[in-house]
Amino acid sequence: MIDAERIAVLTGAGISTASGIPDFRGPQGLWTRNPAAQAMFDIDEYVTSAAVRAEAWKFRRVAAAWDAEPNAGHRALVELERQGRLTGLITQNVDGLHQKAGSSPALVHELHGTVWYVDCLSCGRQIPMAEVTPRLEAGDPDPACESCGGILKSATISFGQSLDQQVLDAATEATRKAEVFLAIGTSLQVYPAAGLCDLALNAGIPLIIVNAEPTPYDEEATQLITTPIEQALPALVT
Ligand code: ZN
Repeated sequence: MIDAERIAVLTGAGISTASGIPDFRGPQGLWTRNPAAQAMFDIDEYVTSAAVRAEAWKFRRVAAAWDAEPNAGHRALVELERQGRLTGLITQNVDGLHQKAGSSPALVHELHGTVWYVDCLSCGRQIPMAEVTPRLEAGDPDPACESCGGILKSATISFGQSLDQQVLDAATEATRKAEVFLAIGTSLQVYPAAGLCDLALNAGIPLIIVNAEPTPYDEEATQLITTPIEQALPALVT
């Protein structure tokens, strides 16, 4: 178990695979199996091609996130918050499962956005995905913004889009305040996840990694746990 009083947590796809959410980059991942799907996640392709948008909306309608339930890993992080030891829950996931498990939305910093909301790329208006779904079901392949006619897109970060600076700042702040940085289910190969590890290490904050696969930070971690996340986390926090 971790006895620190202030813990910053970073989660990646690995915490949600036990909930049935596919890991995009892993061995069974969507992009590994179907590289063409990657066009849906490229902002330039999305903006210029109605066909790509129609494909993306079809994909969203059947996304695994809608029916997924949190697992013991997500619930362990709710317990960490209940104990008053969580400085922030930074996630690379867009599935909303931390909030569904009961984590306070104010503590969850979604680096890559969320599938539960939709943004207008023209006027910036944000609406719940649930407001768009009936229009898809009524046969509109590419619903436009009802305010300005602009292109709608799920409120996730596509390739070519910048991250939300406010979310990044909150993630940095949560890391700086911590005594321990706990990285869970993330390969730590992409920015900003890797950058947050550097920030922690440079500040002398010990790094604990829970991940089945090796990461570039394994040698710098004070503890490395490779058992399944939904088993490892409950043991770590209680
Ligand atoms: Zn608009």
